[in-house]
Amino acid sequence: MIFRQLFEPISCTYSYLIGCQETGEAALIDPVIDMAERDLEVVRALGLRLALTVETHIHADHLTGARKLKALAGSRIAVPVADQLPCADVQMREGEPVTVGRLQLQPLATPGHTANHHCLVFDSPVQQLLFSGDALLIEACGRTDFQSGDAHALYHSVHHKLFRLPGETLVYPCHDYEGRFVSSIAQERARNPRLRDGIDELRFIEIMNDLKLKLPYPKKMEFSVPGNLMCGICPDHVPPEYRAPCDIREQG
Ligand code: FE
Repeated sequence: MIFRQLFEPISCTYSYLIGCQETGEAALIDPVIDMAERDLEVVRALGLRLALTVETHIHADHLTGARKLKALAGSRIAVPVADQLPCADVQMREGEPVTVGRLQLQPLATPGHTANHHCLVFDSPVQQLLFSGDALLIEACGRTDFQSGDAHALYHSVHHKLFRLPGETLVYPCHDYEGRFVSSIAQERARNPRLRDGIDELRFIEIMNDLKLKLPYPKKMEFSVPGNLMCGICPDHVPPEYRAPCDIREQG
């Protein structure tokens, strides 16, 4: 397996490149439109071919690179089936692995940040990796106060699914705002100030209700959500200052 963690600094989003050494096929989890050219350079520099992009959920803070990467590299687009996106090539659901060459990613339905959010588990002979999307962040979690967010559902997804994975499972989140790269299930169970063992559901819901009052409205939400429902087409109302990544230029 070839693995890279890639960063987009404006929305502090991590995308993950998973490559199969045997077939040369690669997948990108949660690509960002602004970084599509950079992502393809990395894929090519590693001698891989981008076969697939995978969305953990419909993002509200950035446009996905899925459509742009498909135009540039011919990759297919995987999205949770319940999102019912006509633009998706692969309908992702728990119990049906997503394949990348000879590798497999296991989708886990983890509602709460959005109703149809899925994490992805990659099992290697030596290490289990969890791509946790916005369900579980490092000492934090995704918001539950817009789109189809639901703190009750998120608590259950984390405690009854993610925290039942082995403690050594490495946790790779969709965002980190403080420059951290990776955590583990054991570390989050011990240290996550919202979700660690011992915090009950009512306390978690209180914490998330408080956050709602403190967090700003996402700057790009008005165009990101409708754009992401089309797999990353820029809607007409993207403001001029955010339009540059909407252009698709052929790669030399
Ligand atoms: Fe999100």
